Amino acid sequence: MRLLLRIFLIISLYIFFIVLIGELVIKLDSYLLKLKEEIKNLLLLIIWIFIYCFSFFVIYIIDYFIFEKLFPDSKKETISETNFNINSSIQPTKQEIINPVLSKAPELTQETKIKEVIQFKKERDPNFSKLVKQAYQYKCAVCNQQIFDLEGNPEVEAAHIYPKALDGVDDIRNGIALCKFHHWAFDSGLFSLTDELKIIISSKIKDNLNYETLIKHEGNTINLPIDDKLKPHPIFLKAHRNIYNFQS
Ligand SMILES: [Zn+2]
Repeated sequence: MRLLLRIFLIISLYIFFIVLIGELVIKLDSYLLKLKEEIKNLLLLIIWIFIYCFSFFVIYIIDYFIFEKLFPDSKKETISETNFNINSSIQPTKQEIINPVLSKAPELTQETKIKEVIQFKKERDPNFSKLVKQAYQYKCAVCNQQIFDLEGNPEVEAAHIYPKALDGVDDIRNGIALCKFHHWAFDSGLFSLTDELKIIISSKIKDNLNYETLIKHEGNTINLPIDDKLKPHPIFLKAHRNIYNFQS
């Protein structure tokens, strides 16, 4: 609608100027009677072109003044306002997030968008996990915890001593069975193992009471596999200590 109005205005102005120029040229024609025909025609052509260009400039100014200044596009304003709001709300406060949630009754489900995620994961030997867990009799090597879910699956996890992320080998001697907490702590470098398989705690958490469940095991020898050949090899233990700056 707005565009149609704009076109209508431009065409109207254009017709108005054409008529005006026509009238002007007729008037000028009588004033220029005394001049030679060729000069008169040339002069008229120059005047015609000049007024024609000038009329376009005037039409542009009128159009700009009416549609950009007096009646600006409301949609444009809305968009710029929205952008402003987005920028100003980059970091909503905790209350701004919580209040809308608490203002309505809780609902069990919500419509969730599906997001396509492409992941590249290092391929693991499927037997590695199984054999490590078996070797440690499904017990955490640190806390000796042994839990199974209702289907009989062990809670314990098979951790790589030298990390898989660094292309650590799927060798059972590079493995150790750990509960979820101790697996996370081991992979985070909060503790490591000596070549004698004693637990050493990172100096970063030694005085931190939050890690008491880990610190209390300091100096203990881990629970070893029944088969001595399957215990962690010093080559992997040393590499783990080096990654997390434990003194070898
Ligand atoms: Zn544990």
